[in-house]
Amino acid sequence: MNPVEDEARLGIEKRPVERVAIIGAGTMGSGIAQVFAEAGVPVTLVDADPAAVQRAMEVMHRNWSRAVDKGRRTAAEVEAARSLVTLSHEIAAAADADLVIEAVFEDVTTKQGLLRELDRLAPPRTLLATNTSSISITQLAAATERPGRVIGMHFFNPVPVMPLVEVVRGLLTQEETVEQVLAAVAHLGKTPVEVNDFPGFVSNRVLLPMINEAIFCLQEGVADKEAIDAVMRLGMAHPMGPLALADLIGLDVCLNILDVLQKQLGDDKYRPAPLLRKMVAAGKLGRKSGEGFFAYEGQSRA
Ligand code: NAD
Repeated sequence: MNPVEDEARLGIEKRPVERVAIIGAGTMGSGIAQVFAEAGVPVTLVDADPAAVQRAMEVMHRNWSRAVDKGRRTAAEVEAARSLVTLSHEIAAAADADLVIEAVFEDVTTKQGLLRELDRLAPPRTLLATNTSSISITQLAAATERPGRVIGMHFFNPVPVMPLVEVVRGLLTQEETVEQVLAAVAHLGKTPVEVNDFPGFVSNRVLLPMINEAIFCLQEGVADKEAIDAVMRLGMAHPMGPLALADLIGLDVCLNILDVLQKQLGDDKYRPAPLLRKMVAAGKLGRKSGEGFFAYEGQSRA
């Protein structure tokens, strides 16, 4: 058998990604759908909650109207992108995509259940990607019969603005899968960076200890919150201080990632600052609850 027949037999022929489905129409899923549509790729956006897909479409419309108002896009470009988005609340609507990206809640049981269902519905060649921030790609891939076709695509918030996608290779991810996903990310005009499957990948492994250390500094009285953020903004040229960034990410999300790093890497250097734990227990979650290290009067999403 020649190599081409061999690849076809195994269902791993390298094909460009021509149709994408996104499961989970929240903050990330909506942004991911927007950027694929802008790149001319038909995209089906699926959420179990019909209100979530409607909200996601409204967010895309708002972003596109603003882009037209500011002269960054023409009305025709926006109309072309809009026409490429299909909404659904049925997982089965994702079955004919070349690449399915899940962006549902950060919960291992939810994600494994969804990937198992997608594995059953989609043909063997379909790539299954996860936007998880902290769950092992290898562990998620193990819920499927196609671990070689499962990969991490870690987008950053806000997706339409942030240029990076961490492309995370699970232990069994095939080379063809990595190549197809690198090409799909490049087609979006974003920069893919390849990383291996370790807790927190590179982004959260480096970012969260910095945020945690800033919280320890506050807890120990090294400086006040404004001073800590000013040192990192003005001295290190960070666009935001670590405490303001923690508020933006969500203090509950920060705590969850630090817990994962500490547990899975087995190293107490990742132990969450007690002050962070206390703030989460008090419901001070950052911008989304109206208050974290800083107050966001009138800006709460909750
Ligand atoms: P979100 O809560 O805004 O949205 C999640 C959506 O998934 C909800 O609309 C929910 O209805 C839907 N959903 C849940 N279970 C479902 C199921 N079984 N089938 C269909 N839809 C389902 O979440 P988010 O902030 O967009 O995060 C999504 C993923 O992206 C998480 O894994 C998160 O860790 C990761 N992530 C988030 C960020 C961020 O800054 N928010 C950044 C990078 C990665």
